Amino acid sequence: QQPARNAADSHDVIEVRGARENNLIGVSVDIPKRRLTVFTGVSGSGKSSLVFGTIAAESQRLINETYSAFLQSFMPSLSRPDVDALRNLSAAIVVDQERMGANSRSTVGTATDAYAMLRIVFSRLGQPHVGPAGAFSFNLPEGMCPTCEGLGRVSDLDVHAMVDVERSLNDGAILVPNFAVDSWYWQTIVGSGLFDPDAKLQDYSAQQWQDFLHKPATKIKVGSNNWTYEGLAVKVRRIYLTKDRESMQPHIRAFVDRAVTFTTCADCGGARLNPAALSSRIAGRNIAECSAMQISDLAEFIRAVDDPSVAPLVATLRETLDSLVEIGLGYLSLDRESATLSGGEAQRVKMVRHLGSSLSDVTYVFDEPTVGLHPHDIARMNDLLLRLRDKGNTVLVVEHKPETIAIADHVVDLGPGAGAAGGRICYTGDVAGLRRSDTLTGRHLDHRVTLRDPVRRPTGQLPIRGADLHNLRDVDVDIPLGVLTVVTGVAGSGKSSLIHGSLPRRGGVVVVDQSPIRGSRRSNPATYTGLLDPIRTAFAKANGVKAALFSANSEGACPTCKGIGLVYTDLAMMAGVASVCESCEGRRYTDEVLTYTLRGKNISDVLAMSVTEAREFFPGGQARAVLDRLADVGLGYLSLGQPLTTLSGGERQRLKLAIRMAEKSSTYVLDEPTTGLHLADVDQLLALLDRLVDDGNTVIVIEHHQAVMAHADWIIDLGPGAGHDGGRIVFTGTPAELVAQGDTLTARHLREYVG
Ligand code: ADP
Ligand code: ADP
Ligand code: ZN
Ligand code: ZN
Repeated sequence: QQPARNAADSHDVIEVRGARENNLIGVSVDIPKRRLTVFTGVSGSGKSSLVFGTIAAESQRLINETYSAFLQSFMPSLSRPDVDALRNLSAAIVVDQERMGANSRSTVGTATDAYAMLRIVFSRLGQPHVGPAGAFSFNLPEGMCPTCEGLGRVSDLDVHAMVDVERSLNDGAILVPNFAVDSWYWQTIVGSGLFDPDAKLQDYSAQQWQDFLHKPATKIKVGSNNWTYEGLAVKVRRIYLTKDRESMQPHIRAFVDRAVTFTTCADCGGARLNPAALSSRIAGRNIAECSAMQISDLAEFIRAVDDPSVAPLVATLRETLDSLVEIGLGYLSLDRESATLSGGEAQRVKMVRHLGSSLSDVTYVFDEPTVGLHPHDIARMNDLLLRLRDKGNTVLVVEHKPETIAIADHVVDLGPGAGAAGGRICYTGDVAGLRRSDTLTGRHLDHRVTLRDPVRRPTGQLPIRGADLHNLRDVDVDIPLGVLTVVTGVAGSGKSSLIHGSLPRRGGVVVVDQSPIRGSRRSNPATYTGLLDPIRTAFAKANGVKAALFSANSEGACPTCKGIGLVYTDLAMMAGVASVCESCEGRRYTDEVLTYTLRGKNISDVLAMSVTEAREFFPGGQARAVLDRLADVGLGYLSLGQPLTTLSGGERQRLKLAIRMAEKSSTYVLDEPTTGLHLADVDQLLALLDRLVDDGNTVIVIEHHQAVMAHADWIIDLGPGAGHDGGRIVFTGTPAELVAQGDTLTARHLREYVG
């Protein structure tokens, strides 16, 4: 394969030769440096394998190798990507959609450093003067509110989630996991002699309640043994609440989520800081009030701070705040917890840090930076990508939106299909050439949408009344039943607040979102969809052995990797790293189990199949039904054994949809289901949504994609702007009415796409 030459000077290109990660078929390509290159292609074509799995991965590995042996011993040992040669790499920074962790001490302000700058401004100019910058930090003892330790809220336990007061200890009054009748803890309670094990909890005296819930650890004698008794609430706090939520077993996590309630800290009112820090003000506002302001308002407030002693600092702070506004995040506040941001918002917050950076000649790698952005916001995102390029950086972007492809200096189009049908370069060159090229991307670039007309008739209405979550202003709206409703509006206008927060959750509402799938690393599409069960049974029958042999973590699984095929190295502060298991060479099972075959394939071969291949291999039965649904949602290219941890947000959402479609449900809610989908994949998604509606379901979709809007029976448009400039319904009606009469931002952008 002869790479297309586009850059004049070979030193000015990143040369990729013979890349073979995942489905790539020895790809060779030149990528111009200090230019904006967009990678396109249907989902599963190999864009991530090339950009993240090859270029960014190798750059990261080379950087790690430059550290001393001592430092390297703390770092993951990354394996070299499967590529013959990579030349002229620069340091790569990946700005992805990974959510920013569940640490409630991380906020938009701390993540962008804007809060650190604000602290210094307050330490210099705040009146009265309370000290240096640490006095304004809620993460340091000198600044934090002592009651809530800087969290702004205090946790409490809901007694009714822990016990059933209408039962006695002997009847199983304790509902806490692992504390059932006869458990060790149950025996210490009964053995304490403080309670009548046959009395209902509601009949306990006040003293008994106190002892039951709050008694500190006390030595008690049971028979000839010394045991320790402590109150239920004390015990639950100690063993469950001090643990990292994400590392808990699912049933424990579910209990903790039920039992723990949060209330705003009464002492600081949620401001996280101690009274001294809160007493210090600039122009009448303390630092907590500044952090709670919408960022676009704070930018104005800071603009007015005019003191030569802090001028350079204020200028930098202003730049950061302005960048947040430009990137379409002006509706956030600095005190917003990072963990509550959507994937797209998180990526844009991370981007702001790099815009302020004085590094140049860096390779920035973005994964669909327009996710969550209304067409109106995309132009501003494009400007920022160009600004990074103009600072002398190489910008690589995986993206499907025609608006962003249009600004590329260079395009690398992968395909032609997904999985084994992809992995090749279909086109490289400029955008004009892509338009003329006969590739799937080229053909779709100037694609125009047709409005659904006439629309389907609703079978009823789901009323939402007085919705006022976040920025919503007492919103009344009826959601039509039995049709496809698309909820639109700029980022921050209130779509999620309305649909996720205010939709009545009664009977049969299924929300399919992009949140991480809870489960272990052993989970893959086969286990998660239940597909492994019929596969296991088929193998067991064919070989006259027990089905359990074919499960991960059974005696049939490789003892080293426990059936995952990969070995993970976990490191504090860093993402875990996977490497192929050396015992089984990634085959997951013992040699004995691998001798059992079904129609010539062993279990490892089957798990390596893509959904499309597996559909041919299992032409009927229960397995085929599951596989058909996976293909329906556009995941035909996914391999059955691929760890769920490697799926993108869009893939996760479609996988969940494939499962939940099998349930008897009536209302489906989807959040930007086109994420990760090529223009050509969107048609397939629309057909699927139509099928759900035609089967009598209600489908509600939050979307920015014009093709989806055009396909709707009903549009609910929020706005007019974001944050406090949004939160109202600005239009409801059919897509044809929106285009004909609407004067909203959505109407304007949809109009351009109707042809
Ligand atoms: P794109 O980014 O274009 O959607 P990917 O590079 O993610 O495509 O995927 C290309 C192919 O490689 C697909 O068939 C996908 O299932 C497979 N693949 C991706 N990541 C992994 C992985 N970690 N393990 C196994 N297969 C993978
Ligand atoms: P959209 O879905 O249209 O992007 P959202 O409903 O996410 O809009 O946001 C609407 C407003 O509500 C924004 O000002 C946003 O900052 C605020 N908001 C959303 N989620 C939260 C949250 N978890 N905590 C505080 N404010 C929030
Ligand atoms: Zn407090
Ligand atoms: Zn192994």
